[in-house]
Amino acid sequence: MAQIRLKNVFKRYDDGEKKLFVKKHVNDFAVKNLSFECKDKSFIGILGPSGCGKSTTLRMIAGLEKITSGEMFIDDVCINNLLPKDRNIGLAFEDYALYPPLSVYDNLAFNLRAKKLSEAQIKKSIDKVAPLLKVDELLTMKPSALSGGQKQRVNIARAIVREPGLLLLDEPLSHLDGKMRQTLRQEIKRMHHEIECTTIIVTHDQIEAMSLADVIIIMKDGVLQQLGTPLEVYDQPANEFVAGFIGEPPMNLLKSVIVKTQDGFYFSFKDSDLRVKVPDFYRSVVKDGMSVTLGVRPVDVIITKTGTSTPIPVAVYENFGDEGRLSVRVGGELLNLTTQDNMVFKRGDIIHLEFNSAKTHLFDPETGNKIQGE
Ligand code: ADP
Repeated sequence: MAQIRLKNVFKRYDDGEKKLFVKKHVNDFAVKNLSFECKDKSFIGILGPSGCGKSTTLRMIAGLEKITSGEMFIDDVCINNLLPKDRNIGLAFEDYALYPPLSVYDNLAFNLRAKKLSEAQIKKSIDKVAPLLKVDELLTMKPSALSGGQKQRVNIARAIVREPGLLLLDEPLSHLDGKMRQTLRQEIKRMHHEIECTTIIVTHDQIEAMSLADVIIIMKDGVLQQLGTPLEVYDQPANEFVAGFIGEPPMNLLKSVIVKTQDGFYFSFKDSDLRVKVPDFYRSVVKDGMSVTLGVRPVDVIITKTGTSTPIPVAVYENFGDEGRLSVRVGGELLNLTTQDNMVFKRGDIIHLEFNSAKTHLFDPETGNKIQGE
C-alpha cells in the first residue's frame, strides 16, 4: 500500500541519454513542473498523446530515470535517491519481456527466488495471484505458446506476485486487439479491487483511462493539463485540449463570435446563419463582438427533423447499428453529432439543432483555457 506525491518535478534528457529517434531538442524538458498527489489504494491513469511525458513520469517514479529537479515521495519518504529495488514497486511494461526458456510458473517465481524466498512461500504467492489474472491454467506453459493477451496477464501477474506497494503499468494493453483489450481491462480493474494496491497506468487511450482510473492525470508537452476523476475531466474540462481529448466522439470546439441582440447574447459562426443562445450563466462573462471557442459534446445537441431553428443539411451520416453519427457544416467547420431514437438520415437531409445550453463550454481562443460562468 502506498501513497504517491510528486512536487515540482522536471526532467530534461541529457545528450548522453539521447534516443535514436529524438522528437525534441535536448534542451526541452520532457516533464515540466509536475506536481500531484494520489491516495493510497487509488488507481491513477496518466493520459496524453504520444511524447507528452507519460512514460518518463512513470520511469522516474520507478527509479529507472533520474529526475532533473523536484521531489518524489512514497508515503512521505523522499525516494529521489532510492534505488529502484528499494522502492517496493511492481512494473509491467508494454513489452512482456518474459524469459522464453522458463515456464510461466518459473517466470512468476523468478524475482521471488532472487529475494531468497522459500519454494513453499513462492508457491503460496503464485497460487494467490495466478487466478486473479487467470494464468493458473498456464503455469506449466512456455511463453512462446501463449497469446499476446496471455503473455500480458503473466507479465502483470509477475509484477504483483511480489506484493509491491505500488504497481506501475506502462501501456499494458496497447499491443492487444480490441476484444482482448476490453477483457484484460476488466480483469485489471477486478484485480485492483482484490489486491487494493495503489496502481498507476500510463496510456494514450482515453477510454482505458476513463474506465480504469479513479483519478486521471492528463498531460500535454510535459505539462499537467488537469487532474480529476473521470467525471470531472469529462464534465468540467479545464481547457480545450482536455475537452478535445476526453470523450468519444470528442467534444466539438467551434470558433464563435458573441453577438448581442434584443433578446440576449448569441453565439454566431463565420459564414453560417446558425445562432445559438448563450446560456444565462455566461451572461456576465461575454460581451458583444467577443471571440470565444464554443465547446459542445455531440450528445448535447438534439437533432430534429422539423423545427424553427436554422435548417442545416446533413454533410455526413454514419450508422453504427446501435448509434448513428452525423456531421453538419457550420461555416468552415464540421459539427459532429450523435443521433437519438434510431433516427436514420442520408446526406443532404435537412435537420434542425437544439443545443443543450447547460452543457456548453466556453474557452478563451488565445489561451485555450476554460472561461468560467457564474
Ligand atoms: P510518452 O510516454 O508520453 O509517449 P515519453 O515520456 O516517452 O512520452 O517522452 C517524452 C519526451 O521525452 C519526448 O519528446 C521524447 O522524445 C523524449 N524522450 C523520451 N525518452 C528519451 C530519452 N531517453 N532521451 C531523450 N529524449 C527522450
